[in-house]
Amino acid sequence: MNGEIWVVVETKGGAVRRVCREALGRAAALGGRPVAVVLGGDADEAAEAVAPYAPRVLAVAHPLLEDGLAETWAAVLGELVAARRPAAVLGGATTRCRGAFARLAARLGCGYAADVTGLDLAADGRLSAVRPILGGRAYATIEFRGPMPDLATLRPGAFTPAATGPAGSIERVTAAVGVGTSRARIAGRLPVDSGPVDLAEADVVVAGGRGLRGPEGFRLVETLAAAFGAAVGASRACVDAGWRDHSCQVGKSGRTVSPKLYVALGISGAVHHRMGMDSARTIVAINNDPNAPFFKYADYGIVGDLFEVAPALAAEVRRVKGE
Ligand SMILES: Cc1cc2nc3c(=O)[nH]c(=O)nc-3n(C[C@H](O)[C@H](O)[C@H](O)COP(=O)(O)OP(=O)(O)OC[C@H]3O[C@@H](n4cnc5c(N)ncnc54)[C@H](O)[C@@H]3O)c2cc1C
Repeated sequence: MNGEIWVVVETKGGAVRRVCREALGRAAALGGRPVAVVLGGDADEAAEAVAPYAPRVLAVAHPLLEDGLAETWAAVLGELVAARRPAAVLGGATTRCRGAFARLAARLGCGYAADVTGLDLAADGRLSAVRPILGGRAYATIEFRGPMPDLATLRPGAFTPAATGPAGSIERVTAAVGVGTSRARIAGRLPVDSGPVDLAEADVVVAGGRGLRGPEGFRLVETLAAAFGAAVGASRACVDAGWRDHSCQVGKSGRTVSPKLYVALGISGAVHHRMGMDSARTIVAINNDPNAPFFKYADYGIVGDLFEVAPALAAEVRRVKGE
């Protein structure tokens, strides 16, 4: 083992995703010089984007990586890790990295902690990770044993992002992964309208549930979200009913968010929903049922009709912001 902590970095629109900057920040705080690993058909642009956040960058290029399939990323990372033997590999708890890291763990026979909200080094130099379990009712501490590297994906919003510094050195690596590594192929891509603010990385999320009564009810959510500068989320009930795209779904079978503020409009607060947002710093629940489960978990609860409360709240937010 070379003692290095690697961070697999993803970019979006040419910029480093915030959760990856958070992983780089945590890796640096653990007392090492983190190595950022970027993967792509042409990894140069991503390498330049991440260089100010990491002292060293490995830019791994291969035509197969263009598709961004977790299977291919795992194959390429597996080769690289076996050759260079870092002590730990971190990534964001994104759909792609969670898929790639689970496969990587299976390939290498090493341990993997997903969706972690706390990360330290144990006395033996191995990672010690904390992650929510039982729908956020408890936290488990994960100790790593057996083959290294230790693998962990970090929940967005749980760590402080790395600050920029002098640009790190970039080493370009050509992956030797064989053609046919992936059993899947991207047949096409559909655009997703996730609104002006990215849900996974938003500081404020305003989410709507079945209490909105229909897709048009989401206009209230959008108005309140616009007042806050927030992303829009939805419960599964709304997504299943076709009121909102699945990319907006928060919860066990949707996205995980860790905003500073989560405002839930007409959402009952079922455990499957809370699993996707239980690490939000402040939770506000608006519900006309005083016995709604969300009130047990919310920091602030407003018992009332959301059709009255949401517009009033939006007007107040705009007033306070001087708009
Ligand atoms: C395996 C599995 C995975 C799941 N994954 C997810 C997931 O990822 N995300 C998710 O959200 N759910 C998920 N679910 C579903 C989850 O258990 C709940 O069924 C779902 O979250 C309920 O959505 P809701 O709160 O919008 O609807 P409801 O439970 O119907 O709640 C609607 C709420 O709106 C309130 N309301 C109604 N009218 C008003 C009004 N005028 N003003 C204010 N409040 C009002 C009601 O009092 C009620 O509390 C999953 C379930 C399973 C089994």
